[in-house]
Parts: sequence; C-alpha cells; structure tokens
Amino acid sequence: MSERISGKGASMTEKKVQPETLAAQALGRIDKATGAIIPPIHPSATYERGADLSYSHGRLYSRADNPTYDAAADTLTALEGGAATLLFGSGMAAATAVFQALDPGGHVIVPKVMYWALRAWLLGFATRWGLRIEQVANGSSEALRAAVRPGHTKLVWLETPANPTWAVSDIAAAAEIAHAAGARLAVDSTVATPVLTRPLSLGADIVMHSASKYLNGHSDVVAGTLTAATADEFWARIKTVQVQNGGVAGPFEAWLLQRGLRTLFARVRWQCASAELLATRLQRHPAVAEVLYPGLPDFPGHDVALRQMQGGFGGMLSIRVKGGEPAAIATAAGLKVWKRATSLGGVESLAEHRASIEGAGSPVPRDLLRLSVGLEAAGDLYADLAEALERAAARRD
Ligand code: PLP
Repeated sequence: MSERISGKGASMTEKKVQPETLAAQALGRIDKATGAIIPPIHPSATYERGADLSYSHGRLYSRADNPTYDAAADTLTALEGGAATLLFGSGMAAATAVFQALDPGGHVIVPKVMYWALRAWLLGFATRWGLRIEQVANGSSEALRAAVRPGHTKLVWLETPANPTWAVSDIAAAAEIAHAAGARLAVDSTVATPVLTRPLSLGADIVMHSASKYLNGHSDVVAGTLTAATADEFWARIKTVQVQNGGVAGPFEAWLLQRGLRTLFARVRWQCASAELLATRLQRHPAVAEVLYPGLPDFPGHDVALRQMQGGFGGMLSIRVKGGEPAAIATAAGLKVWKRATSLGGVESLAEHRASIEGAGSPVPRDLLRLSVGLEAAGDLYADLAEALERAAARRD
C-alpha cells in the first residue's frame, strides 16, 4: 500500500488490496471527528430528531441501527463479497431471522447434521409456525436434488463444514439445484470463515456466521451475522424481522467484533495448520478409532473441500475414541491443556463430548469428542490429548 487508506473504505476496495489487508484495518477508515484509526463505541440508544421531525444524521433508534455496527458489518460485507451485512445478538438470532422471513407453509431443506440448537428450533418452533422442514443427508447433492420441490421449496440451508462431523457440502452444486427450483440458498459458514470459503461467490444468496466463534475469535462476544449477495426484497424482510424482534447486537459486542476481525486471517491460518497436524497424528494414535477432518485425504468430502476451501480445511476436528462413550468421556476428563467447554473458534482449545449436550435425537456418535483448535503450540495440544487418551485406555484394559 503506497498511500494512506482512509474514508468510507471504498478507497481500499478500489485499490484491490487483498482481503487480509481489508481485515487488518477493518477497511482502513479514519474517524472523521478525531483522526482515530480505531473507531469509537457509540452506546447511544437514540438519535436526535430535527424540529421538522427529520433524522438528519440518518439514524433513529439503536434497535434498528448504531454507528458502531458499521466497521464490523462493512468489513464482513467486503470479506464475503456481498451487498450488505446485518449484525445480530447471536448466531441463532441471525439464522432464525432467515427462516422467519419466509411465509408459513414454505418447504425448507436443511442438513441432517447441523448446529443442534438450530435443528431443535426448526423441528420445534419453525414446524409449529408452519414451515415444512425436510432434512437431507449432508454432502449429497443427489439427495438435495431429489428433495427439492420446484415452486414449493423456498429455502435450502447448508452448513459446511457441518458441526460436529465436519461433513462438507458442495455450495456451487446446491446453489444450482436451489435456484433451478426457485429457492434461495443460505449457508452457515461459521466454521469455514471467509478466510477459507466465500459462499456468495459460489452462488449462495445469504451467508450466516455465529460471530461468537472465529469472527470474534476470543470467546468474549455472543453475536451473529448475515451477509446478502443482493439487498433485495427478501433481505428487507429479514431486516424487518431483526428490527421488530429486536435481536440486534449491542455496540460493545459490535466493537469487539471489528477488533476480532482484524486478526481473523492470522488466527484461522494458524488454527488450520495445527488442526491438520493434529488430525494426521491422531489418525495414527492406537486409542483413536477415527478422525473426522475435511483435510484428510480419506475424508468423504475431501474432494469438494479441496475445491471449495482455499488455504486450509478449518480449525475444527472430531475424534471417535475406541471404547465408546465411557472412553470418550474419560479422555475429556483427563485433559489439562484443552478446556472442557462448549463453543469453538476461540484462541483457547476446547474439547466437548457432543452427544451428551445434544441429548435425545442427536445424530452424533456417542464416542465422538469435538475439538476446537486454538492458538497454543500444536505439540502441547497433541501431548495433552495423547496422554488423556492413553490414561483412558489404560483404565479400560
Ligand atoms: N452455527 C454454528 C455452526 C454454531 O457452531 C453455532 C454455535 O455453536 C451457531 C450457529 C449458533 O451461534 P450462537 O451460539 O452465536 O447463537
């Protein structure tokens, strides 16, 4: 970059800088009032109305809008190559807003393996509310093609890689199938992040993130995002759902999110490298029955992942422990460096026995431990896991 980057961010886009550059400077904006290179936080819930009743500053009330949202929202719009981004109070608030923007009676296709709380909401609330939810096998374009009902299917929802088996779905193929049937395609890209995959460039209409994960990256924010390929009438409906339901992010969360986005590329690349190393080493561990990771050549979705994920296969993997559920739980109990906790995408490595948290109806194998790889030394992470696996196996023998 030979010249100072400033203004609305358009200057950086015009200069065709790399996404890393856009992220590192959150578009490079300078605060007009103070010259600050880091944006201020605006806690104000409301904005002055003119004597003529107009809103000369363009904002009305923070349930609809707040200037602190702009840095994170606009940076994500640029990284995803979209038209607009909305920040929500959680990933769940973001995801459910998409379904609530559909008319009751609509047919919706979702994957069998997906973030469990969203599946529970779809099968509980959304079904009662009149959406016809159909679950199809992850990663099968044939199953999707067979399930779409032209004229009736309104939305195809993908999650890729899917939590917690990391099954990979072909976004471009799904976009073609959905569009041919007159449906929209929305993708939960929480695990891939825009560092690895840009669903809109593959034909998706909407990309969703739990920003509580990699986008923020420090396990100190709960937030969600939606980014649209085009700000069309459906997008306006989603915005209305957000404003009326009130599922917005707070300004402090939005500010932390723009800070997290600045280090996104460095974090995700480190996490991908460590996850790949751990996956390869764990595959050879005698107490591990199977490693689930899109980067492994024998993983079922590996070919699609190679095409669709650039520069890495993500920081998430799962292991299936020999000896079943008791051995998996004993392994988690023996960890000292990894923390036993839910969530993912933070700087600290987390391990979780998913079946016990997902409860009845979960498609997750009971011997599975989900691993979110953080920024610790990969050697320390491997040694801790290997010791815990060995102690659990010794107890079994
Ligand atoms: N999507 C995925 C893939 C997730 O892992 C999660 C949370 O774990 C969500 C959505 C929901 O996000 P949030 O917890 O921010 O509501």
